[in-house]
Amino acid sequence: MAKATSTIRSALHYQPQHAEVFAANQALFNRVVAFYFECIQAHEGLLALTNKEALTALERLTHATEANPAPIMPLTDIALDIPAMFRRAPINAALGSARSFFSSLKKWRARKEKHELKKPRKGKKSKPFRERPPVPPRSWNKSVPFYASQWKERSDHCILLKVWTGTCWSWLKVGLLSRDLPEGFQMGSPSLVRRGKQWWLHTPIEKTFAAPTNVEQQITTNPQTRICAVDLNLDQHIAVCSVQTVEGTILATSFIGNGTEIAGFRKLLLGRIARNRSQTGILAENEQDNADLWRKIRHLDEHIAHLVSARIVQFAKEHQASILVFEHLGNLQPEKGKYSRRGNTKRAYWMKGRIFRYSKYKAWNASGIITSRVNPRNSSRHCHRCHAAVIRYKQGQPESGYTPGAALVVCPQCQMRGHADRNASLKIGQRLLERYGDPFKEKPHTAVRRAGRVSKETGVALSQDARRQKGPSISEARYGERNAHGTAQQGTLWMDERP
Ligand SMILES: [Zn+2]
Repeated sequence: MAKATSTIRSALHYQPQHAEVFAANQALFNRVVAFYFECIQAHEGLLALTNKEALTALERLTHATEANPAPIMPLTDIALDIPAMFRRAPINAALGSARSFFSSLKKWRARKEKHELKKPRKGKKSKPFRERPPVPPRSWNKSVPFYASQWKERSDHCILLKVWTGTCWSWLKVGLLSRDLPEGFQMGSPSLVRRGKQWWLHTPIEKTFAAPTNVEQQITTNPQTRICAVDLNLDQHIAVCSVQTVEGTILATSFIGNGTEIAGFRKLLLGRIARNRSQTGILAENEQDNADLWRKIRHLDEHIAHLVSARIVQFAKEHQASILVFEHLGNLQPEKGKYSRRGNTKRAYWMKGRIFRYSKYKAWNASGIITSRVNPRNSSRHCHRCHAAVIRYKQGQPESGYTPGAALVVCPQCQMRGHADRNASLKIGQRLLERYGDPFKEKPHTAVRRAGRVSKETGVALSQDARRQKGPSISEARYGERNAHGTAQQGTLWMDERP
């Protein structure tokens, strides 16, 4: 079985004085976590146990019962009358932190040992090991989870939480503003989270479903498998998606987002920041300048990435695609130009990465759509029908050469005409299919195949070229063709990914 998880973030409505109560509750929680962390440090052996066993052992160490009247490290030293669930939640939190701390300590010790065993080269002194050991957390600022019996009567718009007010335990009624629970999901224990001055309730949700088979199986065993390939751009259409079957039938294409408009707006904001900065002259250290403008830019990018990824997944779902395909992102090459221009390209590029990440988890949560990535090299330079090099041109201009970023393509071999980004997205889909054997396709044109000499080092050339933002020249581009047939390198270079 596979699992999909997500979080519902609900804004809370509460009386202003309750903010202090939440803070007091969190402070007590963190004191208890710190106490248990110390307990675990004093009894390191506990970490060899499972979480459940460790929890029992820690309770025996700290909690007095009839059978266990005198625990070694009583929790009552910290606070009297802590509810059982307000003990278990911190124990689990402390266990998590302790496991992570001790595992990094162990790795550090291993590195140190390895360093000390290394013999110095002849005539050289051995270098001392300078890396500092990890330190246990000095302050704790964990959000408080509410286990069952610490909360009750949850409805769409309110919930009762049991909190420590600073003097006693009491039930507080809090208003909720949140979205509905998506179909098939189940709620976990909510936590009270502080963001800025505002308190939120975060509820993890989870659903289980039958795990999909992997990409290779889907593609090689069922010719009706539909894949949705996505070409992400910095401007014009942010995402161009097309759905095709493994056999090569093209079913649908969708153009999503107006990248030019977003880039224009972002550039305007960046320009304002640059102007403000030039007028002020000096930037204060450790202080964010133009905070409002930066926040606007951040929110814009976040918002667009969510919108675009949601629409990609929606489109894939509508056409029953079971695999999403993206390109690997190349490295961003620094651009020349004004501050606003450089900053803009950088952010548009980051947004591509964000759209990929969001699409990946949204697709998985939607019903187990798997996301995969392929080599980005020359995906827009070849015809999706016959694999020949295409002519890319702007409308109203002569049909010759290759103009990067132009909207239209025509194939001199098979006369295929269409939108350049659509051609690229189809090509991206085909890359994935090519990885698993001959994809029921025509062979590339012989003239093109002859253009390149087949050699073994293509794997290296391939990964280096993939870093370029701008495509290589045509003569180099043709070398890309020989990777498609007879070499298995793509399967090993670009592995499938799953969340
Ligand atoms: Zn063609």
